[in-house]
Amino acid sequence: MTYADNAATTRLSDAALSAMMPYLKNSYGNPSSLYSFGQEAHDAVENARGQMARVLNAQPGEVFFTSCGTESDNWALRGIAETLGKKGKHIIVSSIEHHAILHTAQYLKGQGFRVTYLPVTDKGVVTPEALENAMEADTILVSVMLANNEVGTLQPIRELAEIAHKHGAKFHTDAVQAVGHIPVDVQALGVDLLSLSGHKFGGPRGVGALYVKQGTPLAPFILGGGQEKGRRSGTENVAGVAGMAAALTEAVAKMPAESRRLIALRDRLIAGLLEIPRSRATGDPVNRLPGHASMIFECVEGESMVLRLDAEGVCCSSGSACSSASLEPSHVLLAIGLPHEIAHGSLRLTLGEDTTEQDIDHLLDVIPRVVATLRELSPIWAA
Ligand code: PLP
Repeated sequence: MTYADNAATTRLSDAALSAMMPYLKNSYGNPSSLYSFGQEAHDAVENARGQMARVLNAQPGEVFFTSCGTESDNWALRGIAETLGKKGKHIIVSSIEHHAILHTAQYLKGQGFRVTYLPVTDKGVVTPEALENAMEADTILVSVMLANNEVGTLQPIRELAEIAHKHGAKFHTDAVQAVGHIPVDVQALGVDLLSLSGHKFGGPRGVGALYVKQGTPLAPFILGGGQEKGRRSGTENVAGVAGMAAALTEAVAKMPAESRRLIALRDRLIAGLLEIPRSRATGDPVNRLPGHASMIFECVEGESMVLRLDAEGVCCSSGSACSSASLEPSHVLLAIGLPHEIAHGSLRLTLGEDTTEQDIDHLLDVIPRVVATLRELSPIWAA
């Protein structure tokens, strides 16, 4: 099998599994308990928080654990809307955000907020000019993702955050696809809030974090027993956070060499796939995630390609995995200006730590064959 869907989720790393084992089995105390058995678990959570903070160049007190990237995104938007909603009712998000942001923005619209959706260039970039033009006197929050999950484009977050701050607004970035894959330094980015998710970089599924810059007025999203300094209640996922921190620490240590390796594999894959007639690569060719290849093959259905490729031992996706149950063309591909019929032919191949040269050979053997077979069956191609 060739697993080329690392943007959907990744294999749990060995480092993560080892870090988790003690808390899955023997050390099962509750971090809130006063006795020393509980304190062991408490120490594990605080140790993980310290590791995450070091990697992100944050203070440990600025890292809050959540259940996933989706929760972090929901919390960032709703938490700021609740605390700053009296100051202003305008929120800006990009038009290519993940549904965790878009659906939360939609919810806030129903609560009386105005939402502006920033356009992107044909490479999927949010320009500083677009943000400058969208800022209004009562804008309280701007949210633009660091790396896009569908087309892999990286955004000029530092410049965008500066514009938001100049106008007195807070800045959030969804860095779920970026953390563990490119250097992410919250100070250098200048953001107030940043979402991440463990399972995108070799950590377990079901755990994430939200970086909240000290002094950012953020209302809690989940109320209860007062864990996470009263800002995110719920008994901590001790094994999960230990695994996530171990995975991230390892990914960051390996990053310089691993990025170079992935970029070489990715570029060989894209160049090979571009030899297929009427194909194109989407997103920014240079400013993109190291292991991310996103393609369009005209006159084929993305979903049909995914199913045929599955039969050939390839795991990949068409557009975003999270919306792959829908047959609507992806909002991201439409936002970069592709017509409906072309956006349908998208294929996303995301490489990871386990991807080898042989996997690229396999993909370059099987994808052209599958595209050719599907085109033979396509009435549009025949026409
Ligand atoms: N944001 C982005 C950009 C994503 O790609 C994803 C998942 O694919 C999420 C948020 C949601 O993360 P999670 O699966 O941890 O809820």
